Amino acid sequence: MMTNYSALIDMHTHTDNSFDGNHSPVYMCDAACNKGLRAIAFTDHCEVDAYYRDNGERNVRQAFFEISKARSAFMGKILVLNGIELGQPAYDIATAEKIIASQKFDVIIGSVHNLRNKQDFYYIEDFSKIDTESAMKEYFDEILTMLQWGNFDILAHLTYPFRYMFAKNNITEDINKYKSQVDEILKLAAEKDIALEINTAGLRQPINRLSPEKETVMRFKELGGKLISVGSDAHYAQHIAVGIKDAVKTAAEAGFGAVTLFQKRSPIEIPIV
Ligand SMILES: [Zn+2]
Ligand SMILES: [Zn+2]
Repeated sequence: MMTNYSALIDMHTHTDNSFDGNHSPVYMCDAACNKGLRAIAFTDHCEVDAYYRDNGERNVRQAFFEISKARSAFMGKILVLNGIELGQPAYDIATAEKIIASQKFDVIIGSVHNLRNKQDFYYIEDFSKIDTESAMKEYFDEILTMLQWGNFDILAHLTYPFRYMFAKNNITEDINKYKSQVDEILKLAAEKDIALEINTAGLRQPINRLSPEKETVMRFKELGGKLISVGSDAHYAQHIAVGIKDAVKTAAEAGFGAVTLFQKRSPIEIPIV
């Protein structure tokens, strides 16, 4: 039988409850059904280090409520998972724990979008003005610190800054420069049964690559990694599941027989077929 890599799930998407999202959960569910998905996780942003400034408590409650409504409306058609993408949780662990305890989330994504007291890599206009190598070292250190805390299910877009370094200044970074740090990250994620995400957003951006790429997914397997998550990081309904087939194929080629869905924060393996 030919594998068509259609594990029809998307574990990382944003609705208009994210500051940079565009479509309601119901509209996103409708699009996901039309694309034939079996499950979708909504993982709206919550930047933990800006939680009090950005009225985080209200936003998290509102997103959870609206996703719950969409889940009821689409019951029997698609499995809707109520998640959250926590940015920089290790910068304020007490607040991160409070957010996690505030709702019955299915899945928590852990992300680092910015270094401490710095802006999101997304907003940095000119990377030629910064030392990208030391920024990347600091970034991977922060990922490691987040993993040492570890109260999350999916490690998001491991090479996040690469997207913007390439888009803004045509800088191509090589993950092998950071091998010892990346190995430590992958080992700790494996040990804690945290899923490594293969994020497909980069396929829609100038860098045109998965995050991380296949060699890193293979290394994760070598270092004992068991769980792989696939996510489009869609901020528009039309981007749901885009690139998921490539991500699933990459997981399969790296030796994984399944991708992981999280429900009530427990992993469920979805075989790759
Ligand atoms: Zn993110
Ligand atoms: Zn995201």
